[in-house]
Amino acid sequence: MTHSELSDINTAVAIVGAGLSGSAAAHHLLRQGITDMVVLEAGEQPGGRVRSRVIAGVPVDLGAQFVGPSQTSLLRLLADLGLSTIPMHKAGRDVVHYDFAYDHAQLDRFVSALTDVGSAMDLTTPWHHPDAEYLERLTVNEWARALGIRDTAVLAFISTTVEMFISGSGDTVSALWFAYFVAAAGGWQELSGGTLDARVAGGVQQVALRIADVLAERIRLRSAVTLLEHNDETVSLTTEDGTTVTAERVIIACSPSEVARIRFEPTLPSARVDLDAKWTMSAGMKFAIAFESPFWRELGFSGSIFPSRTSPVGAVIDNTPTDGAGPGVLIGFANSRRFASAQSSQRADRAHIVESYVHQMFGVSAPAAIDYVEHIWADETWLSGCMSPNRPGTLLDSWPSIRNAIGRIHFAGTETSDHFNGYMEGAVRAGQRAADEILTADDRDVNVVRGGFRAT
Ligand SMILES: Cc1cc2nc3c(=O)[nH]c(=O)nc-3n(C[C@H](O)[C@H](O)[C@H](O)COP(=O)(O)OP(=O)(O)OC[C@H]3O[C@@H](n4cnc5c(N)ncnc54)[C@H](O)[C@@H]3O)c2cc1C
Repeated sequence: MTHSELSDINTAVAIVGAGLSGSAAAHHLLRQGITDMVVLEAGEQPGGRVRSRVIAGVPVDLGAQFVGPSQTSLLRLLADLGLSTIPMHKAGRDVVHYDFAYDHAQLDRFVSALTDVGSAMDLTTPWHHPDAEYLERLTVNEWARALGIRDTAVLAFISTTVEMFISGSGDTVSALWFAYFVAAAGGWQELSGGTLDARVAGGVQQVALRIADVLAERIRLRSAVTLLEHNDETVSLTTEDGTTVTAERVIIACSPSEVARIRFEPTLPSARVDLDAKWTMSAGMKFAIAFESPFWRELGFSGSIFPSRTSPVGAVIDNTPTDGAGPGVLIGFANSRRFASAQSSQRADRAHIVESYVHQMFGVSAPAAIDYVEHIWADETWLSGCMSPNRPGTLLDSWPSIRNAIGRIHFAGTETSDHFNGYMEGAVRAGQRAADEILTADDRDVNVVRGGFRAT
C-alpha cells in the first residue's frame, strides 16, 4: 500500500503494533469475519520482540523462543498457522557456574513465601492482595531479608534468578511485581522448567509473518503512530510520516512504555498516564554461536550453562537443530552490565568473549566457532525493552488501569495479560482479549464492518 493510498483511510479497527499481540488480535478478528482493519507497525518488519535470523544456515530466534505446554493460546495459534514446536534438548549434564554454595533451606523458605503470596493472589487484580502495599514497598532482596534470609549466597542466587526471569536485579525489582510475575506464569517451578520446554520449528517470527501475509495491504510497516485523537464516535491516528487513519475502534498492542510515547488528544486519565510513565522496561541482548557440531553433547553436557554473578554472559542453552545433525548451536543472554564489565563495545569482541566463555565452561580445547549472530534490543527505536522489571513504589496506584478500555481505545500487549504477563502466551491472550472487547462491544451505533477494506 503506498503512502497516498493510506493517507485518508477510514477503517473499522486500527491496530497499533504488529508484535505477537497485535498480530494475534488481527488474526482473531479475521477469523470472526472482521476484515476491515489496518495494522500500523513502527518497525521494518512484523514481530516486535520476536525476531528470527539465520546462523550457519539454520534458523534461530534472537528474541522470544521458549514455549511451554501450559501456554495453550500460543500453541493453538501456532497450530492454526500450521506451525509446530521442537522439544528443547535436555539430555546431559548442565554446567552450573555459580561461584557460591548456598543454603537450600533458606532458598526453600523464600520460594515457599513467594508461592504463598502467588496462591493468595487473584491474577486479574493482584493489587488487591492483602499484603500488596507492604510488598510494593520492598525490593525482592529486601523482602527476602525480611523473611529472615541472611545467607548472602541465597540472596545472590535469588538475584541471578530474578535476572534470568525478568531482566532486572533482586535489588531493584518490586517484591509485589515479582510475586505476581511468577504466579502469572504458573509458579517458580514452571518458570524454571516448563516454560523452557520447546521452541518453534523454523523460528517464532513466522507467526507474525504469516498473519502479515494474510493481512496483505492492511498492514503498514514503518508507520509509527505519534498522535491519537479520540472522541465518542471515532479515533484518529497520525503516523510519523503524516498519514492519518480514522477508525471506529483502536487496539494499542505495545508495552506501556511505548504507549507513553504516543500523544493522546484529549489526554488519557491520570492513572493511565502515570502507569505508562512509570512502567520499567529493560533491554538485554541475545546471541547465538555456532560450531561444526554440538561437541558438548559428546562430552556428556546438555549445553546449558548457568552463569555466576561475574560471568560475562548470562544463561546459555543448546539450540542445535532437531537431531544434532548439522551445526551445533548455543543461544545465550546478556545484559549491558555484563558485557560492559567485559569491555566489549565491538561485535567482534563480544563474539570472542562468548566463544572463550563456551570453551572455558566445557573445559576442553573445543573447536572454533563457525558463526555468531546477536541482537541488542536497546538498539531498537520503537521497542523499549524485553521484560518489565518494575520497581517498588511505582505501580500500585495506577496498576488497575492496565487493561481498561478508554472509550474506543483498547489495550493489548503482553503487559496487559493476567496470565503469562511478559511472555508470548500473554501477548496472544491479550491480543485476543482486546479483539473480543471489540467484537462484544455494546454499541450497535458503531459500524464495525464485516467485510471489505474501505479506503477513500
Ligand atoms: C531477548 C528476548 C527473549 C525473550 N524470550 C522469551 C521466551 O523465550 N518466551 C516467551 O514467551 N517470551 C519471551 N520474551 C518476551 C516476548 O518476546 C514478549 O512477551 C512478546 O513478544 C511481546 O509481544 P507484544 O506484541 O505484546 O509486544 P511487542 O513484541 O513489543 O510488540 C509491540 C509492537 O508495537 C510496535 N510499536 C510500538 N510503538 C508503536 C507505535 N507508536 N506505532 C506503531 N507501532 C508501534 C513495536 O515496533 C512492536 O512491533 C522474550 C523477549 C526478548 C526481547
